[in-house]
Amino acid sequence: MQRESMQYDVVIVGGGPAGLSAAIRLKQLAAAKGAEIGVCVLEKGAEIGAHILSGAVIDPRAIDELIPDWKAQGAPLNVPVAEDRFLFLSESGATRTPNWMLPGCFQNHGNYVISLGNVTRWLGQQAEALGVEIFPGFAAAEVLYNEDGSVKGVATGDLGVSRTGEQTGNYQPGMELHAKYTLFAEGCRGHLGKQLDGEVTPCARTSTRRSTASASRNSGK
Ligand SMILES: Cc1cc2nc3c(=O)[nH]c(=O)nc-3n(C[C@H](O)[C@H](O)[C@H](O)COP(=O)(O)OP(=O)(O)OC[C@H]3O[C@@H](n4cnc5c(N)ncnc54)[C@H](O)[C@@H]3O)c2cc1C
Repeated sequence: MQRESMQYDVVIVGGGPAGLSAAIRLKQLAAAKGAEIGVCVLEKGAEIGAHILSGAVIDPRAIDELIPDWKAQGAPLNVPVAEDRFLFLSESGATRTPNWMLPGCFQNHGNYVISLGNVTRWLGQQAEALGVEIFPGFAAAEVLYNEDGSVKGVATGDLGVSRTGEQTGNYQPGMELHAKYTLFAEGCRGHLGKQLDGEVTPCARTSTRRSTASASRNSGK
């Protein structure tokens, strides 16, 4: 069965902090230039934030840069860190390390205790307000390539397939999303990112093993 396709300027795989921040920034940059770009985010969780590990301490530096008025916009960063205690636990008690001995990454003054799930949901709302199209509940299942080996986009998985791989009465083929740029922001161990590591030709490839989010340009456009 023929799959339907949609065309965007940028398709982002993964609606986590990285994917949503990238979507917001792209829309901000386009708006500053008076340009209109189509950006969509695919998120495999049933809703934005559903697959995000929640408890975290966040350094607000990046959010300060991305959305300087985040407080006025109601970002869920409400609990500033008041005190750091670093304890070595034993069977009978705990020994506290003096704070002056702690490295910088354990000094959390100026940071916030947050639910990363809630912050991600809020980023999703900010992205939608800027016109980003978010498709929760859709996992990108396949990377699509142009003939020259560059990334053309992604396809979502087929729906209505039985455990044994047969089409059921609810069968619906996946949708193809084509873009000038496809940004993979699946988090660490994303299965499409792993495929790309081996498959994209060097000239088309701008992703690195170390980056959380990697981008591939469709050189066929
Ligand atoms: C145990 C633990 C504790 C941590 N504590 C802190 C902390 O205190 N402070 C801090 O700043 N950071 C902390 N981190 C790190 C932080 O969680 C990550 O840096 C951050 O979540 C990375 O964001 P991301 O958007 O790159 O990836 P992720 O948060 O992993 O988001 C990826 C998103 O992509 C979606 N996705 C994946 N594959 C697909 C696909 N094929 N199609 C569609 N959607 C897909 C996932 O459902 C998910 O929503 C911690 C991490 C761990 C594991």
